[in-house]
Amino acid sequence: MNLTQFNRILRQVFLLPVIALLITAGALYLQVRGANETVRLIQKADANIAQAAQVAKLIADEESGLRGYEATGDDRFLADFRQAEANIPAELDNLSSAVRLDPVQRDNLQDLLNEYQNWHDAFALPIMATVRAGGKANDVDLNLYGKTLMNKVREDLGAITKHAEGSRSVRIREWHRQVLNMVEALIAIALGMGVLIGLFTRSRLNAVSSAYRTSLEVLSHRAEEIFQSEQRLRTTLASIGDGVITCDFEGRIQMMNPVAAELTGWSQQEAFNCLLEDVFRIVNEKTGAVVETPVAKVKRLGGVVGLAHDTALIRKDGTRILIADSGAPIPDQTGEIVGIVLVFRDITLERRTQETLLANEKLAVAGRLAATIAHEIHNPLDAVSNLLYLLRTGGTEEESRQFIDMAESELARVTQISRAMLGLYRESRAPVPVDLKSILEDILLLMEHRFHELGVGIRTDLPSPVVVEAFPAELRQVFTNLITNAAEAASPGGEIHVSVTGAGGPGALVTISDNGAGIPEVVRSQLFRPFFTTKGEHGTGLGLWVSRGIVSKHGGRIEIASDTSAGSHGTVVTVSLSEKPEIATAAALPQL
Ligand code: ADP
Ligand code: MG
Repeated sequence: MNLTQFNRILRQVFLLPVIALLITAGALYLQVRGANETVRLIQKADANIAQAAQVAKLIADEESGLRGYEATGDDRFLADFRQAEANIPAELDNLSSAVRLDPVQRDNLQDLLNEYQNWHDAFALPIMATVRAGGKANDVDLNLYGKTLMNKVREDLGAITKHAEGSRSVRIREWHRQVLNMVEALIAIALGMGVLIGLFTRSRLNAVSSAYRTSLEVLSHRAEEIFQSEQRLRTTLASIGDGVITCDFEGRIQMMNPVAAELTGWSQQEAFNCLLEDVFRIVNEKTGAVVETPVAKVKRLGGVVGLAHDTALIRKDGTRILIADSGAPIPDQTGEIVGIVLVFRDITLERRTQETLLANEKLAVAGRLAATIAHEIHNPLDAVSNLLYLLRTGGTEEESRQFIDMAESELARVTQISRAMLGLYRESRAPVPVDLKSILEDILLLMEHRFHELGVGIRTDLPSPVVVEAFPAELRQVFTNLITNAAEAASPGGEIHVSVTGAGGPGALVTISDNGAGIPEVVRSQLFRPFFTTKGEHGTGLGLWVSRGIVSKHGGRIEIASDTSAGSHGTVVTVSLSEKPEIATAAALPQL
């Protein structure tokens, strides 16, 4: 159940009593209206009775006035008669309009009118006329007749009053019944609504409580899952071979695995909540300068970062180890960085191994070249000693000068070879401008004998100087490796082609191609792996690996394209170098 459903239930539970109360109020209103109508009818009956009483009083006044006049003959009694006589029609009118809807009363009233008129005309007026004429009005029969007429009038008035009283008491009974009904209905509605509200509320609350229980179960299930996943993660972290440290956003250490503890020399308890730079103190191996912490770097760049080469970790006891590491941000659900994870490993041994391998490869190249060079130097020296012999044994002056010229040119060749040889092993400390054309020429010169031995032809395309900033000895090593590979692949009877161009912009492109058998597909992916060779004992398998390390250190690229098809087999190796690369100061070898 979500929040909206919960709110709906709350609204229902609130609304139902309100609706129930409204229904009750409606029912009550109808009942009260009925009762009010009854009360109005009762009041009307009361008014009828009062009106009838008023008429009766006037008739009585009229009669007593008539009697007074009849007994005394005094006109003053007639005044009462006249006044009552004058008022009666209006009061009868009132009574008539009050009872006009009731047919029984209408009949009663009609009777009353007739009887009254009868009494008035047939008794009252003749008596008055007799008295006024001076006669006696005490005739017993006439008076009895008048009394009979008046009794009828009284009977009619009594009938009207009685009928009004009868309907009044019916109404009152009705009113009592209505009030009782109202109370009963009220009790019934209240009970019904109470039960309904109770049942409804109970069912809604049950729904809420079962939803609540389900959510609790889901939550506890999730908590269990999170716990398990955290356990898995902890076990994984504890058992991997790299050091792992996680920090919060401020760079305070929250967790480190056993390898990280061993590498830094800090125990996990000691390191907890310490700033990363206090525990993970890193400096440049060569300069000793403090290196930016991975936390700062990750925050600055906002992504995964690697560490610069030559980073050394100062352990707690002050000893140093070389490390390679990477840092990555830990994002929350919205992508905000909430922490940093750092992974690092000890590469001291790896680095030493690489350096040794590099030295070995240099020695191997030097060894191979030594024989070539001895041979190269031997030939001109032979020639010089032969020329010296000829000079000593004498000849014409003309011949001697010719011999000396020849000896000089042979010695110049020896000097050239020895300078090239020195160049190969003179290591400069910083990158210097290097002319690729002259480097390639030197190498080709030293290797002339070897080409001859292998029976390969050499074609060059070195039109003009192409200068880049580099470590010359290292580039010489690269090109010696690549040209040797080409010569070995092309022999015997093949041809290699070496060219350099400015590549139409800053930088240079050196191409070394051969028309050897080409490199089979299966071999290609392995070319740059250390110790991979197809030459058995004659190869070290380090040439390409070292070359790529040097070229990428110079910010360049080395690419190999090869074809093994029958008509157009051969291999093209291109080395692209930039004019002013940013060169890392130490050897940057690819990993083993
Ligand atoms: P190595 O020359 O000592 O074998 P490299 O690293 O120089 O080691 O070369 C690795 C392998 O690459 C060689 O053994 C060879 O099989 C292949 N290779 C390199 N250059 C060429 C090429 N120009 N033509 C054919 N194969 C080549
Ligand atoms: Mg090689």
